[in-house]
Amino acid sequence: MNGIYLLLGTNLGNRERNLQIAKEHLTAHQLVIKKESKVYETAAWGIEDQPNFLNQVIEVDTSKNPERILIIIQIIEESMGRIRNEKWAQRLIDIDILYYNDLIVDEPRLKIPHPEIPNRRFTLMPLVEIAADQVHPVSGKTQSALLNDCADQLEAKAVNTDQY
Ligand code: AMP
Repeated sequence: MNGIYLLLGTNLGNRERNLQIAKEHLTAHQLVIKKESKVYETAAWGIEDQPNFLNQVIEVDTSKNPERILIIIQIIEESMGRIRNEKWAQRLIDIDILYYNDLIVDEPRLKIPHPEIPNRRFTLMPLVEIAADQVHPVSGKTQSALLNDCADQLEAKAVNTDQY
């Protein structure tokens, strides 16, 4: 991999706006956005009474190390608040570090590449859009090959964000 890739996800409130605000926060923390995938919409897996998710992958440029990025995304998630209901406290935004160049991190608090990448169509579709030929540093597979091999049945569709 050559690049730092983050996944943004939201299924509460004004979802498109949540993505925009998260990107503004990242930029304010000196994470320079180099590339953005389209926004993809996916049904909330296994939970019927939840709104669909919007997901987007972005490539960022930064000299900050992965631990520092994790702290920044947790500050952003916290500052964007939570909506509470009876069962759980959900964030308006979820941000995951997918790849940090070829780096492999395997710590309790931080795993890079993100372990769920091969299992999630909503992550692989936007990754293929902006980084198709980039190679996963552990499996050696491209993002396209990972998507081909992905067993996730949940469809992720690119949406026209002008409608929001
Ligand atoms: P979730 O809310 O499900 O995204 O999980 C957040 C937790 O996952 C945080 O406490 C992080 O410490 C941990 N984590 C492990 N690896 C990563 C990663 N690559 N990106 C973001 N969070 C991670």
